[in-house]
Amino acid sequence: MSTNLPSFEKAEYGGGSQLPPTEQCVRCGQTLVERFFRMDGEPICEPCANMAVQAPAEGAYIAFSKAIAAGIVAAVVGSALYAAVEIGTGWTIGYVALAVGWLIGKGMKLGSEGRGGRRYQIAAAVLTYVSVSSASLIVILHATQKANPELHFAMSQRFAIFLLKYGLLSPFLELRDGVSGVIGLFILFIGIRTAWAMTAGSEYRITGPHGGAAQS
Ligand SMILES: [Zn+2]
Repeated sequence: MSTNLPSFEKAEYGGGSQLPPTEQCVRCGQTLVERFFRMDGEPICEPCANMAVQAPAEGAYIAFSKAIAAGIVAAVVGSALYAAVEIGTGWTIGYVALAVGWLIGKGMKLGSEGRGGRRYQIAAAVLTYVSVSSASLIVILHATQKANPELHFAMSQRFAIFLLKYGLLSPFLELRDGVSGVIGLFILFIGIRTAWAMTAGSEYRITGPHGGAAQS
């Protein structure tokens, strides 16, 4: 009778070699012999996975906020860089938009410690667009000031609206320049796509359970 079941017994009691050798929970360090999960690819034990799932909102919110803060800094730096290159070289085609997109993507990823996701991507795209379009505004103001050094900009509501409108629409207004405007808009699109691709990813990814009787 019992001779019908040797392979079962072997699997149950002697089959330790079928389990992953020695994976340890990344949080508490205990050796994972049976059911375990993976959080962002790293092995994690069931109690730790439960704790992570119960408190993801706060951590994810903090990570996103840090990513936004870092992204805004990158956008300001990118805008200054873009304007400096354009004023310095006289380039009319905005190649620097590629660098701006990369800078913002990189900054956000650093801020979130590697997290990403759809809301990160949308923020990165908006920041890249705003950064590049406001750079054009710096260039315009610089040129105006240079042409007429006596001119002092008085801050009025009308002027503020003009700045906002001219700044945010500048990539499209440059279409009036013909081919270079089209190329500029295309490069901006590539810059936005770069930032978009770099901020893809997951906010929290847990898979499992792995191991244990379910898989033997
Ligand atoms: Zn654990």
